[in-house]
Amino acid sequence: MKSKVILTALLSVSLMACAQETPKVKHKKAKTAVTKPVKFANAVDPICNMPTEPGMKDTAVYKNKTYGFCSAYCKDEFKKNPEKYAKK
Ligand SMILES: [Zn+2]
Repeated sequence: MKSKVILTALLSVSLMACAQETPKVKHKKAKTAVTKPVKFANAVDPICNMPTEPGMKDTAVYKNKTYGFCSAYCKDEFKKNPEKYAKK
């Protein structure tokens, strides 16, 4: 009987220790969850010559490169003739 009591006591102690340690574990943010700023192939909007900034919403992918544009208008112009604008 006594040994059983000790075992139970030990078990509960170890369980408590576990419960105490759990909050200490810091959940590391997964690196994949961090959104990378999209790096554009063009430093300048080829249509209006405006400098592009990471995070621009209007983008077009041409030959596996992402191009950024200030507006949907510039994006559409680029899409009409990407070869001409992508040369730079
Ligand atoms: Zn533009």
